[in-house]
Amino acid sequence: MGGIYLEEQERPLKLHFIPYPAPGHMIPLCDIATLFASNGHHVTIITTPSNAQTLRKSIPSLRLRTVPFPSRQVGLPNGVENLSAVSDIVNTARVHQATMLLRGPIEQLMEQEPPDCVIADFLFPWVHEVAKKLNIPRLAFNGFSLFAVCAMDKKARCNLPEAITWNATPPKILTKFMEPLLETERKSEGIIVNNFAELDGKEYIEQYEKSAGHKAWHVGPASLICGRRGERGGKSVMDAEECLSWLNSKRVKSVVYICFGSLCHFPDKQLYEMARGIEASGYDFIWVVPEKRGKEEENKWLPMGFEERNEGKGIIIKGWAPQLLILGHHAIGAFLTHCGWNSTLEAVCAGVPMVTWPVHDEQFYNEKLVTQVRRIGLEVGAREWGVVGFGERKHLVPADCIANAITRLMDGRDEALAIRRRAMDYAQKAAQALAPGGSSHTNFTALVRHLKRLRDSASLHQ
Ligand code: UDP
Repeated sequence: MGGIYLEEQERPLKLHFIPYPAPGHMIPLCDIATLFASNGHHVTIITTPSNAQTLRKSIPSLRLRTVPFPSRQVGLPNGVENLSAVSDIVNTARVHQATMLLRGPIEQLMEQEPPDCVIADFLFPWVHEVAKKLNIPRLAFNGFSLFAVCAMDKKARCNLPEAITWNATPPKILTKFMEPLLETERKSEGIIVNNFAELDGKEYIEQYEKSAGHKAWHVGPASLICGRRGERGGKSVMDAEECLSWLNSKRVKSVVYICFGSLCHFPDKQLYEMARGIEASGYDFIWVVPEKRGKEEENKWLPMGFEERNEGKGIIIKGWAPQLLILGHHAIGAFLTHCGWNSTLEAVCAGVPMVTWPVHDEQFYNEKLVTQVRRIGLEVGAREWGVVGFGERKHLVPADCIANAITRLMDGRDEALAIRRRAMDYAQKAAQALAPGGSSHTNFTALVRHLKRLRDSASLHQ
């Protein structure tokens, strides 16, 4: 009996991953899928054709199964299958609506080849019903830090430090959208968290698990898992070699990297303030702006003569940037970020302190974790909590606030040095977490054991 059990325990797991079509969700979940695959488990990513194309380029080793994206049914052009491909509210809603229609074909696929466990984004609440119907354990993934989940999930509420100062309040519509999703998430076998326990904090993990009644498996940071630094989530518009050689020409920790993830599109007026702020700080920079900001519109958001004045001093990348490559370069001294969880964690892994400028969703909670709890960044002073990353805004962040925050973090005075020291310390902890004996490594091993036990007890009862 013991022998058979041991043999069963050796048998690899069969896992289905269903990532939500947005870079901030797909990138980390596919990294985590890679972690399972590289440990010998049979991993299948279920996605749609155009997302599969992107994934094939960045992680060719993963097995992909596709189901058609119902573009026509929701009124989207063919090939638009990802939130990063749209920049207005109507089409954002259409992409989301389309993901709700994926249930039928995905259910069919899972029925044909039932996995031992399905790991799906919490933005697909219907996976809960499918998994229940097919009697398959489900793990949820939401791409957030657990700290942010603790702040958002009213029913699994944890006590965030009272001393935190809030300069914005979440829009009601966000809370209304999140609540039912988090409720369904709580019914899962557990959640997989792209973070390491030391950054979220043991106290929040314990409180969360107690009130949610399931486990939070911290197995990250995902960006350190498979060492892909170039093509990740999109095709870079700047050649990696060119980017590296420019950075190589700069002094250590002398360049500010500015990027707002894959979904933020600021109005022209805000970009104009940003340009003035960056220039006023006087530091060298790499500034990423979305592709849609083409040459023809440039005079609307870029101060006259900006590019000429900053020749050699700064680069504007118009489109997708090789972010991991940039953040990991020793010339980068600070990251002006929208606090998307992936970007935040990637900065932590690189030991780069952050100037925080949250824009929407849970980014405001991530900001507080960075600036007031772990104290590895400074706030720019954003106080408008958006529902999405685009559209007109009431409050602009003025150029002087941007310049001041950058300067405070880059000027090498005591405050900046202390923040940098703490940032370096967390980078070390991040790397240790994934090494044998580290917290994420241990969690991963325990998670595999747990899933195998579930599988084996299910087959005993059949
Ligand atoms: N990213 C990138 N190049 C870009 C913009 C974003 O590689 O030009 C990556 C970034 O490294 C991160 C992800 O896209 O892994 C963005 O996720 P995040 O959670 O930071 O923000 P979101 O896009 O979801 O708002």
